[in-house]
Amino acid sequence: MQKLKLHNTLTRNTEEFIPIELGKVRMYCCGPTVYNYQHIGNLRTFFFEDILKRVLLYNGFQVKHVMNITDVGHLVSDDDVGKDKMEEGAKREGKTVWEISEYYTKVYKRDAELMNILPPDIYCKATDYIKEQIDMVKCLEEKGYTYKTSDGVYFDSSKFANYVDLAKLDIEGMQEGKRISFSEEKKNKTDFALWKFSPKDEKRQMEWDSPWGIGFPGWHIECSAMSKKFLGNHYDIHCGGVDHISIHHTNEIAQSESCNEEKFVNYWMHGEWLIEEKGKMSKSKGEFITLQTLIDDGYSAMHYRYFLLNAHYRKKLKFSYDGMDAAKSGYGNLKNRILRLKEEIKNDRSSVDENKIKNYKEKFFDSINDDLNVTEGISVLWDTIKDKDLSPKEKLELSYDFDKVLGLELERLVIQKEEYIIPEGIIKLAKERKEAKANKDFKLADKIREEIKRKGYQITDTKEGVKINPI
Ligand code: AMP
Ligand code: ZN
Repeated sequence: MQKLKLHNTLTRNTEEFIPIELGKVRMYCCGPTVYNYQHIGNLRTFFFEDILKRVLLYNGFQVKHVMNITDVGHLVSDDDVGKDKMEEGAKREGKTVWEISEYYTKVYKRDAELMNILPPDIYCKATDYIKEQIDMVKCLEEKGYTYKTSDGVYFDSSKFANYVDLAKLDIEGMQEGKRISFSEEKKNKTDFALWKFSPKDEKRQMEWDSPWGIGFPGWHIECSAMSKKFLGNHYDIHCGGVDHISIHHTNEIAQSESCNEEKFVNYWMHGEWLIEEKGKMSKSKGEFITLQTLIDDGYSAMHYRYFLLNAHYRKKLKFSYDGMDAAKSGYGNLKNRILRLKEEIKNDRSSVDENKIKNYKEKFFDSINDDLNVTEGISVLWDTIKDKDLSPKEKLELSYDFDKVLGLELERLVIQKEEYIIPEGIIKLAKERKEAKANKDFKLADKIREEIKRKGYQITDTKEGVKINPI
């Protein structure tokens, strides 16, 4: 069977995954910035990380998974001079930063739960670990990596020899302002803030005392400091969206490796964007789609999960309502098939033939171990369900097993006939039957009922109206 292979951004290669400690994986994922709702693009990244975690668990690894909640220091622009997104969010809503942080964290956790994203073992909020962040800046200062400007303490990126490695940055060729704008006092374009001073003319809601003056941490230091606390200096996997490669993760590596004097992370993994007609889905564009928007439009979180399963995490995925309709109908069909199998096994005393299911298990395993190819995994699931040589019990056993990775809640599905998705064609026929009955053409009405039956649905007249169920 295929060994687990993952694409490592650091080497740009798909490599066999070998953990630092036998059988155990320590993994850190950059979490949400809680100044607003997470849009469905953000959720795509958290979904990719969920698939990664599930594949690791499926391979038998014990996983320690840490995710941060960014509630301070993430500035509107990446050049260390913009406003803090949290303070801006609070102003927009006329609330305190602490209130919006609590609210959007709660909504994120609800969305993740609805999407069946496994929670991390540890959620850590940046403002709970200010001391750890200050300690790390002190460590960098003692080792000579920092300098002070009028607005903060900065990391001197020219002192870290491997600065360009992750993003393959071409520092010489970088146009000023292309990656980050170059503020007067910075020594190098790529230097970044470790600690920012509170503005003299403005009282911030979030600020702390530090050896350098009252202020707040730069965004990148929280991930270096908190991952060190919970996972140690050197761990296995660190992930986020592709937009983190050139700045956030590059800066994390610089801070951690300079302070700890050892390798930080073995595998860097990044999820590609969800895009719209106009390009990347992003909050700064004002209007964006949340999971709740989709729910209000008649889709469920599982429909969105099924939609996401149709693309590899390293490919851009274009969001469209046509695509969502296809996912809704695809998931509906899957659900109907699983519910029917659940009915069929009720009186089935046969046992599962391990030899018959082995091939499918191997195929599924090989797909997901090939850098998380869940799209192929879904095809294996459908092949299993459609295979006439497998018994309902065998089909269900395989489906539940694959669902440990796909996370489509197949085992949890219960028979609630109203939940069946009735195809449009059947609904149209039922309407025609209703018209025939209203015209007292009972012969035609019966004929339509038979046609509906041939297509696998039963139509029943009840006091509350017409009910349609799959047979
Ligand atoms: P944020 O809350 O802005 O810190 O973003 C949370 C996560 O979503 C980060 O890992 C981002 O890289 C990721 N992200 C942002 N926009 C998108 C997008 N359009 N598609 C996929 N992931 C995204
Ligand atoms: Zn981070």
